[in-house]
Amino acid sequence: MHEKIPSLLASVQKQASSWLESVGNRPIPATASAEELRQTLGGPFPQEGSDPETVTGILARAGMEGNVASTGPRYFGFVVGGNLPAALAADWLVSAWDQNAGIYVLSPLVSVIEQITGAWLRELAGLPASMSFGFVTGGHMANFTALAAARHRVLHDAGWDVEEDGLLGAPPIQVFASEEAHYTISTSVRFLGMGANRIRRIATDSQGRMSAPALAAALRGIAGPCIVCAQAGNVNTGAIDPLSEIVECAKNHGAWLHVDGAFGLWAAASPERASLLRGIEKADSVATDAHKWLNVPYDCGITFCADEAAHRSAMSLPAAYILSTGSERDPHEFVPEESRRARAVPVYAALRSLGRKGITELVERNCRQARRFADALAGVGYEVLNDVELNQVLISFGSAEQTQRTITAIQEDGTCWCGGTVWKGRTAMRISVCNWSTTDADVEQSIEAILRAASEHAH
Ligand SMILES: *Cc1c(COP(=O)(O)O)cnc(C)c1O
Repeated sequence: MHEKIPSLLASVQKQASSWLESVGNRPIPATASAEELRQTLGGPFPQEGSDPETVTGILARAGMEGNVASTGPRYFGFVVGGNLPAALAADWLVSAWDQNAGIYVLSPLVSVIEQITGAWLRELAGLPASMSFGFVTGGHMANFTALAAARHRVLHDAGWDVEEDGLLGAPPIQVFASEEAHYTISTSVRFLGMGANRIRRIATDSQGRMSAPALAAALRGIAGPCIVCAQAGNVNTGAIDPLSEIVECAKNHGAWLHVDGAFGLWAAASPERASLLRGIEKADSVATDAHKWLNVPYDCGITFCADEAAHRSAMSLPAAYILSTGSERDPHEFVPEESRRARAVPVYAALRSLGRKGITELVERNCRQARRFADALAGVGYEVLNDVELNQVLISFGSAEQTQRTITAIQEDGTCWCGGTVWKGRTAMRISVCNWSTTDADVEQSIEAILRAASEHAH
C-alpha cells in the first residue's frame, strides 16, 4: 500500500463527515454558481500532478459550495432518497475493494453478495423466488433490461431471433403503456429499436392509474408479439396501477407484463400498503430503484425477471473468455454491462442494517409524514390534488401563478426544498418524502416554512 493512503483516507473521512454534518442545516441549493465552480476547479489542464490530499481538498471545498443538500432531511424535491449510514460506509468499502463485479472468478465475494441481496429483495417485495435479477445503474436501466428480456421473449415466441437478426424484418411488437408511464419507459423502448411512437397509450384515472378496462379494450383483437408496461408508483401522485386486473388482461392476451416500480415497489414493505401491489407476483418483469426509497448511494436499480432464459438471452455476452466456468452466478449475464461496480454491496448493507422491520418502519414513517403534510396544508385551505396513499403529495396554492410564486418563495427561504410539477393540467407543488433521516420535527419545521411562504405569496 502506498504510504500516504491512511492519512489521505483519514482526511477525506473528515471532509465527508463535515459535509454530512452540514447537510441538515445548510442552504439546500448550491451556493456557488457554475462560473464560480469553474473558477475553483477548472483552468488549464495541469501539466504537473498534485498531491492526492491537495486534490481531494479542492474537491471537498468545491462540494461544500456546489453540492445540493438533496440527501438532507428536508429535501422533498423529485424522488431522490438519502444515504443510509451502513450503505454509505459499505460504498466506501466497494471503492477500496475495487472489485470487477462482472464475473464470478473476478469477485466470488460480490457474486455471492448479489445472490443473497437479490433473494432478500425478492422476498421483501413479495416476488417469486424463481425470479432472476440484475443490479443495474438505476430505474431507467432496470426498465431497459426488463424490456430487452420482453423483446427477446415475444419475438422468440414468434419464431424470430432478435439478438442475432435484429429488428429489420422482425414481426412488429405492440407496446402498451399508460399515458402516465414514466418517460424512461419510452426511452427504453426507443433504445431497444422499437420506436417510442409504437407505444399505444392507455387512459388513466384521476390518480394516474392505468384503466384496466381501457387496456382490455385496446388489447381486444390484438395478435402477435405484445408487451404491456404497468406502473407501481406514479412520480406525481404515488399511485399504483390496478396490477391484478392488468396482469389478468395481459395474460389473457399472451402479452409480456412489465411493472415499473422504481419507488412504489417499496410499498411492499408496509403491511398496510402491500395490498396495493397485489398481482405483481405474476408479472413477467419488475424494475425498481435502490437509490431512491431504499436510501443507498447512487447508482443502483434492480431488474427482476420471471423468465430467466429470456433475461439471460437478452443480456449475456458471447465472448469465449468470460463463458461461465462453473455453477456460480456471473452477474454480467443479467445486465447490459461487462465490467461493473459492486453496487449490490451497499444494498446488502442497507437491508442488513435495517432488517425487514427497519424497512417497514422507514416506508411507513415516510408515508405518515406525507399524510401529515397533506393534512396540515389542507387544514388551512390549500388544495391537495392527489389521494395520499404513499409518499407523494401534490399541493395547489391557488392559480398557477400563485403556486409558482409560492414554490419559488419556499425554495428561496431554504428551510426545505420542494419542486413544481403539472398534474392533469394544473400547476402544483410536489412533496416527495423518501429520506431515512427525515424526522417528524423536520416535517413540522417544513410545514411552518411552507405556510409562511404561502401566506406571503399565494395572494
Ligand atoms: C425515477 C424513476 C425512474 C427512473 O429511475 P432512475 O433511477 O432515475 O434511472 C423510472 N420510473 C419511475 C416510476 C421513477 O420514479
